[in-house]
This record gives sequence, C-alpha cells and structure tokens, in this order.
Amino acid sequence: MDLFEYQGKQFFARYDIPVSPGDVATTVDEAVAVAEAIADYPVVVKAQVQVGGRGKAGGIKLADTVEEVRIHAEAILGMDIKGHTVERVWIEKASDIAEEYYASFTLDRSAKTHLGMLSAEGGVEIEAVAETNPDAIAKTWIDPVDGLTEEAAREWVAAAKLNPQATEGAVDILRKLYTAYTEGDADLAEINPLILTPEGQVHALDAKVTLDANAAFRHDLSEYEATQERDPREQAAHERGLQYVGLDGNVGVIANGAGLAMSTVDIINQVGGQPANFLDIGGGANADVMAGALEVITGDENVRAIFINIFGGITKGDEVANGIVQALQRVDIDLPMVIRLDGTNAAEGRKILAASAEKVISKPTMVEAAQAAVELAGS
Ligand code: GDP
Ligand code: MN
Repeated sequence: MDLFEYQGKQFFARYDIPVSPGDVATTVDEAVAVAEAIADYPVVVKAQVQVGGRGKAGGIKLADTVEEVRIHAEAILGMDIKGHTVERVWIEKASDIAEEYYASFTLDRSAKTHLGMLSAEGGVEIEAVAETNPDAIAKTWIDPVDGLTEEAAREWVAAAKLNPQATEGAVDILRKLYTAYTEGDADLAEINPLILTPEGQVHALDAKVTLDANAAFRHDLSEYEATQERDPREQAAHERGLQYVGLDGNVGVIANGAGLAMSTVDIINQVGGQPANFLDIGGGANADVMAGALEVITGDENVRAIFINIFGGITKGDEVANGIVQALQRVDIDLPMVIRLDGTNAAEGRKILAASAEKVISKPTMVEAAQAAVELAGS
C-alpha cells in the first residue's frame, strides 16, 4: 500500500523524524489557508502524486508570498504528472539546503533480512546513482533481532561519507526511520532527499513509504486505503477480494494458487504470448469467485482470449467445472476460453464442461492450453 508524500511525512512525524511543518490541501483556498497558518515564508507547494520527478515536471514550487501560493496552487492542482492527476498539494515551510542525501530501508528478500541504503548523493533517483556510481551507496544489512544499534548506525553513516556535520542528525534519523519501518510494518521507507541545512540540521524533505497490507490487522490503514490509486482493473479485483495484478498483454489468466498463477503467466510468455494479468482465485473456485474473476478479466479491453488453469487438490475438479458453468450463466462472454483442468476429479470436471460449457475448450496439459489460448488471442 503506497502512501502519498504527505501521509509519509505524517507517518514519519509519529516516530519523531523531523519534517517541515505543513499540511495538505485539495483546493486553492485551502492551500492559501495552510500557507497563512504556517505564516513563515517562503513555503513550498508540492504536488501529491505517487510518482517521482515531480520537481522536473513543474509540480514543486517555492512561494515567497501568499499571492504566489495562490498562483502555484492554481497551476499545480489538476496538473497531469506522468499520467497522474494532481488532486492534492502539500504546503510546507521551505528549507534551505546545504546538501541532499538519500536514505532508505527495504526488505532484501534474497538475504532474508532488512537492507538499509544511504548515500551522500541524494536528491536524484537512487537507480541512477546505482548505475553510474554504485560505490556512492553505503549498504547495511540489519538482523531484525538486533535492530539498528547506535554503533552500527554510526559506522554506516561513516561509510556513506556524509558531511561530518550531519553525523549526529543522520544517526538519530536513521534509527527512528528503522523503528518506523519495522513497527509500522513497511516494505519501504525512503527519504530522498534527506537534507543537511546550512545551520547543520538534518531532516526529511520527501517521504516515500509502502506499507505491507498483510499487516493491516495491526494498524488502522483506513485513511490510506481511502486514497489508494489503483489501476481500474485492480480496483475491480480488490472489490471482489481477488488477488490480481494487471499486466499489458492480451491473454487473461485465471488460476488457483499463486504459484500456479505465476507459472501460467510464465508459460504464456514461453509459448510466445503475452499475459494480460496475474489472477489467483485461491482455493474456493465456486461460481461466485469464478464469476467475479471472469468479470474482472472481461473488463480489460485488451483481453482477446482467456486461459483458465486449475489444478484440483482440496478443490475438486467437478466443483470447479460447476462453478464455471454457473458463472457463464451470469457473465456474458464472447471471448474464446481455454481450460486446463487437472488433479482431483479432473475427468468428472471435463465431462461437466463438455456437456454444459461447450464454448470452453479443454486441453489436457498446461503447454497445450497456453498455446491454444495464445493462438486464439491472435498474438
Ligand atoms: P521528487 O522530485 O518528486 O522526488 O520531489 P522532492 O520532494 O524530492 O523534491 C525535489 C527537489 O525539490 C528536491 O531535491 C529539492 O532540490 C527541491 N525542494 C523540495 N523542497 C524544497 C525546499 O523546501 N527548499 C528548497 N530549496 N528546495 C526544495
Ligand atoms: Mn524525492
């Protein structure tokens, strides 16, 4: 679950990470009111969209007066930044910047531990730094049992070669950021830029936070839930409780189990096609779930064929087949459909489909089904 910058800063503030005083606004008048409440010019007006490079796109402007706040808020609200429409601006007291750093925590899945990255070359995209000057990124791997000790943070800051003036502030912020990242159940907590001011203060000028939605039971995420920007297809899937990821191809995928769904996406690619999505319907392939899945897939206008890949385990093949038959009575589908049904009661399932869902083409193996679906999709 991705947070907007303003939500990230409010999240940081709860963990005592220094951010500039500010507030969010959805209208020009509100923006003016926020600036007047800060009452300490210049302020900065920042487009709230979940995409980087806002500054270059004209979405970040300094304002020396309330009139300038009005002008900038008017220009930025409604602006399109890389396909994202700006619906909110964040106004904060502007900072003087001596240096810009980069700091983040994320999960290193292959190392099975937390990864901290720190660089004296901040303010630009870290991917660019990783490409042109990888040595400028100091990495540290943190055992979750030990946490980030002050000693380890100090060594890490030294390795990143920040200005010595920034050491104390950086050590303090990094440890708080680590706490926010772990206690907040984040997948990513990034500050870019983390700044050093001419007065020697270190603080967060930007915030990029991704929270783990699987930890929702431990937190109140309703505020973030309400502002989620989703692909309309993903929104439709989310409303139906389906595990869906939108892709760019033309073969719609329905599979049971995340592993099988991923293999299905892979095999479509292998036989020269392009999957339109990843969709895991989980264990219960009943009519409701199947109808929901078919609605989501057919709602994607790029889809030319559907590949249903089911391996019956606890879920029995005949139940799946009955689910499909009933779902097809509820959802109108003109697209060709190919199914590979295997596992428990597969033969019974195929019989049911042959009798009551003659539109659905049955193939005995995954490869054959993928080839048929890709061919029917015309790719
Ligand atoms: P992003 O480009 O979308 O990641 O937006 P950021 O919030 O990181 O801001 C981009 C750049 O705008 C920063 O690297 C700064 O150089 C500049 N900027 C943002 N806020 C301020 C501010 O308060 N004062 C000054 N002088 N520059 C700022
Ligand atoms: Mn940034």
